Order: sequence, then C-alpha cells, then structure tokens
Amino acid sequence: MAQCACGSEISTQTIYVSDGKPKCGRCRAELDDYAFENTSMAQRFDPVLVFQSVTDDREFSFPGRNTEACPPGYKPIVLDSLRAADQFTKRFNAIEGEKGRTERALNHLYFDQRTKARRDDIRARIRGNPRAESLFRQVTAMMDKKRAAKRDQEMRWQPNGSFQVFSGDASNRQGWADSETDWRTRKS
Ligand SMILES: [Zn+2]
Repeated sequence: MAQCACGSEISTQTIYVSDGKPKCGRCRAELDDYAFENTSMAQRFDPVLVFQSVTDDREFSFPGRNTEACPPGYKPIVLDSLRAADQFTKRFNAIEGEKGRTERALNHLYFDQRTKARRDDIRARIRGNPRAESLFRQVTAMMDKKRAAKRDQEMRWQPNGSFQVFSGDASNRQGWADSETDWRTRKS
C-alpha cells in the first residue's frame, strides 16, 4: 500500500479529487504520478455516466448504475477521466447554484408581497395611535434588517455536489451526491 509523505495510506477511502488531480485526504497534498499509479487507482477509476437533456444542456439525469438505459429525451455522456469528472462537477454545481439563486429570489419576492399586504393591513388598523405606529415602525425595521442579513447569506450559498469516482466497493457505489439530497445518492 502506497503512502503519502504525511504518512497517511493512499486508498479509495482516503483519496479525494479536486481540480482533476488526486489528493491525499488527510494533508490535501497533491499525489504525484508515481504515488497515484502505484496504488493502481488509475486503473480503478470508474467512468461516470450522466444523461444530458437533448433540448437543454443544463438539465441532467443521473443513472444509478452505468448499465442503465438512457431515458428518452436524453443523451449519454461518459466522464472517462478525473479531469472530465471534475469539470462536469464544477459546471453542474455552477448551474445548480444559479438555478437555486433564481428560485430563492422568487421566494423572496413572494414573501415581500405577502409581508407588504400584511403590514398595510396592520397600519390601517393602528392609524391614529402614535405609540402603536412608532412601535410598529421599530419592529418592522428590526425584522427587515434581520431578514436582509439572512438573505445575504442564502444568496451566497453554493451547491457542492460530487461523484464517487473510484470503485472501492462495488456494492457501495454511489452516483451523484449533494447537500440538496442530504448527501444521499441522487438517481434518475
Ligand atoms: Zn498526506
């Protein structure tokens, strides 16, 4: 079994991939070609199959296994190298991030409209009561400030899904996993 310079064993369990390069899961050092080849990881790399929509190249479906038939309206894409898998991962995360932002912005808009209607209603009812009006102004200002901070954080959120690209244990083979599915495998 090969070892990283940090002493950590290099195995399918400890290795991870970023920027298309195998890295040590403990110290994050990039593994040189020799260390990588020595574990025969290169041979154990499992090509990843994804299905891309024919009409929308930003729409994907993930098969549970590589032998699954391509659903109608999709075309198969084989990610047959670390680099290809990594590039796909980056692109997919960027697409999902953008979709998520649009959805969140729409949710905010909807929420704002409802909030405005509710506040107009309350304002109409407390009109002519200076103490109530002043209190209401202070409360809404505080709520708006809190909400703005929360939204700022929400809009910065980025998806960070990934493939398990090494066939360590075939029974445990996963497709795509991301935070959206609570890191459970996402299948078509
Ligand atoms: Zn290391």
